[in-house]
Amino acid sequence: MKLIRIHAAGEPEVMQLEQSALPEPGPGQARIHIEAAGLNFIDIYQRSGQYKVPLPFTPGQEAAGVVDAVGPDSDSFKPGDRVAYAFVLGAYAEYTLVPVEKLVPVPDQVDSRTAAALLLQGMTAHYLTHDTFPVHPGQTVLIHAAAGGTGQLLVQMAKLRGARVLATASSPAKLELARQRGADETFLYDDFEAGVKQATSGKGVDVVYDSVGKDTFDRSLNCLRPRGMMALFGQASGAVPPLDLQVLNAKGSLYVTRPSLGHYLLTRDELLRRAGDCFDWVARGQLRVQIDREFPLSQAADAHRALASRATRGKVLLLPGD
Ligand code: NDP
Repeated sequence: MKLIRIHAAGEPEVMQLEQSALPEPGPGQARIHIEAAGLNFIDIYQRSGQYKVPLPFTPGQEAAGVVDAVGPDSDSFKPGDRVAYAFVLGAYAEYTLVPVEKLVPVPDQVDSRTAAALLLQGMTAHYLTHDTFPVHPGQTVLIHAAAGGTGQLLVQMAKLRGARVLATASSPAKLELARQRGADETFLYDDFEAGVKQATSGKGVDVVYDSVGKDTFDRSLNCLRPRGMMALFGQASGAVPPLDLQVLNAKGSLYVTRPSLGHYLLTRDELLRRAGDCFDWVARGQLRVQIDREFPLSQAADAHRALASRATRGKVLLLPGD
């Protein structure tokens, strides 16, 4: 079988296409025949060495496909079941082993490409809007990078929860896409602080969902109402420098959190609830999943370049069968 393997962190070219024997599932594992693997920004952090991963490794945190074989004690799934999973390393491959407790069934109405495009980013948008800062009708939220994979899903979920959504992106075309997904008002990054103040009559927003990090963090704090929450969930522009906590007092008794999906998937019930809601909304036409582009495994480096260069609007997939 084909897979990508990284022997040393670095530029996209470190992702080498290799051949390997089919892995045999052990106790509690299933072997998945991957039909589509989702690209996530964390793949770039791990490939480049910004986040450390033991070497060598096969990147990729999520995929959808078909159960191909199961090991002992794995009887909750059987060969032929359509499944998806997130947060298990090794998805840039034709086949991979996944603990069955991480698998979620994919409903018939959702194809594998959509499932792979949805799961990780959908569950991220889900925990941010339902648990990190549970959005209530009438509240106002600010979402950065709103035309990205996670951003588009966040905008839609915040709207499903009844919020007024202010959103940012780096170009007018991306802002237009954010409006198509439901954003009420949009701003380029240069303008967002003044724009938010005007849009909220100086009151500020209830929460900022910030995945851009270094370039937006300080100005995002200025956009919050007293006791508002900064949910910093990514750092696409670079890491935020250490924060003087006194700043939170001076700017209005603010809350800051740095959440991660893994801490919002602590039990199997939590996984099934978040994944189930995402799949239901897609099946009912309430949530749109935008697949921006698809690459064969052999072009994983091009896929990374596209995501890192801000060229994409929505999800990037790798298709191991192509
Ligand atoms: P996106 O599809 O959103 O792509 C990243 C976007 O970030 C770009 O399209 C770009 O949009 C924006 N961006 C801003 N500054 C930069 C920069 N300097 N370089 C590159 N991009 C920049 O990716 P994902 O949906 O995969 O991930 C979005 C963010 O969410 C990432 O930071 C990721 O780490 C985070 N994340 C966090 C999770 C968690 O649980 N904590 C889980 C999943 C994702 P624009 O051009 O409009 O600025």
